[in-house]
Amino acid sequence: MPHITIIGGGVIGLCSAYYLVQENCSVTLIERNAVADGCSFGNAGMIVPSHFIPLAAPGMIEQGIRWMFNAESPFFVKPRLSWELFSWGWEFYRAATQKRVTAAAPALRDLSLLSKSLYHELAQQPGFQFSFEEKGLMMLCKSEHTLAEEAAVAEQANALGIEARVLSKAALNALEPEIKPEVAGAVYYPGDAHLHPNAFMQQMREYLIGAGVEILTETTVLDFEFRNKRITQLKISRNGQAQSLPVDELLLATGAWSQNLGRALRLNLPIQAGKGYSFTLPQREGQRLRFPSILTEARVAITPMADQLIRFGGTMEIGGLNETINLNRVRGIVKAIPQYFNGYAVEMPREPNIWHGLRPCSPDGLPYIGRSHGHDNLSVATGHAMMGLSLAPATGKLISEMMMGKAPSVGMGLFEVGRYERRS
Ligand SMILES: Cc1cc2nc3c(=O)[nH]c(=O)nc-3n(C[C@H](O)[C@H](O)[C@H](O)COP(=O)(O)OP(=O)(O)OC[C@H]3O[C@@H](n4cnc5c(N)ncnc54)[C@H](O)[C@@H]3O)c2cc1C
Repeated sequence: MPHITIIGGGVIGLCSAYYLVQENCSVTLIERNAVADGCSFGNAGMIVPSHFIPLAAPGMIEQGIRWMFNAESPFFVKPRLSWELFSWGWEFYRAATQKRVTAAAPALRDLSLLSKSLYHELAQQPGFQFSFEEKGLMMLCKSEHTLAEEAAVAEQANALGIEARVLSKAALNALEPEIKPEVAGAVYYPGDAHLHPNAFMQQMREYLIGAGVEILTETTVLDFEFRNKRITQLKISRNGQAQSLPVDELLLATGAWSQNLGRALRLNLPIQAGKGYSFTLPQREGQRLRFPSILTEARVAITPMADQLIRFGGTMEIGGLNETINLNRVRGIVKAIPQYFNGYAVEMPREPNIWHGLRPCSPDGLPYIGRSHGHDNLSVATGHAMMGLSLAPATGKLISEMMMGKAPSVGMGLFEVGRYERRS
């Protein structure tokens, strides 16, 4: 049985470790930080089989260009002279066709449904209590025009076997009484779920430590040594000291940082960081929001969480690997909320209470899951963009099946790691 080293302690790295442990593998997980914050913690907690359309879809580029001129808009590409950004944009453009989206939808659906069923199993395991609820998701639409567009998506969803119901104003109001009368309606996806990601991450970390996984925190992988097609050593910095660590099997799960490390591994793994923000408040007494929802026009996600909390999140800033907080984007989230809910004005959060995370965005909106064909002992699991939490258990399961030489539970062809290698 090989010893597996995983780089990256986000939800993808932890879930991969979990399913490898189920196969009796010994695992070392390396994380730059403390496995206590990062993209996998403050996200909206939604498990979304309803999201079968990747980010790179027809109309996204035109919409994105319109949003570029509004400082509070939910989507922004920071213009900069970068070959990587340019080629990522070109591949995004090439992927944003109806043909590619239609081909991607069943693959994303299968991965999502597998993941949701694995969350269901995990929620029954001792030591896990992460407020997993299968209440569905509302796509709230202010205008009739947006509702008609979402109804067309609902039709595609139903054709794919993902239940979607178009709700009139009255039907929506019966389910979520705080909705404003101006909201035209919603599409309801009863099969979606949600959870408290902070609790899930903490419990998964504790489980892994209990199961004997060695977790090296505050440890950064800087480079690699090779012999022929094998990676033999990791060059790491640990507590400020340069060290080497021998490798048997390696999994790269470094989220938005994967393109940089990929380069050191001689991989072409286009990824741009898509920054988003969230803030979490107590639920209001007498004005509790019942359902997870997306304010469709504003692209804001709202998740009632862990009984007493409500999390508001959104924005996608393609602006490089930087951690600055753009208050204008957060203001865009704050302003959108009372446009959908009666008397639900929210104060602008103070900067320390604003969480941000960098989503790992591939140009075609699909994750990279699988083996690197250029190496004998390297696998990759990254690029899950807005769906990393949703897709993490299925990704981990696929990685464990692949490493154990088992048949994959779902098709992985479109997630091929080397799909951008051939053209480079
Ligand atoms: C506002 C917002 C809302 C979201 N809502 C949802 C949602 O509702 N549902 C959903 O499914 N997804 C959601 N997402 C997306 C989801 O959070 C991400 O897709 C997911 O967290 C990515 O996980 P990851 O493990 O790939 O990356 P990360 O969580 O970023 O983990 C990668 C880890 O690798 C470490 N690392 C990087 N380089 C090195 C190195 N050289 N050495 C050692 N360690 C390294 C990093 O420190 C990091 O901890 C949301 C994201 C945002 C920002």
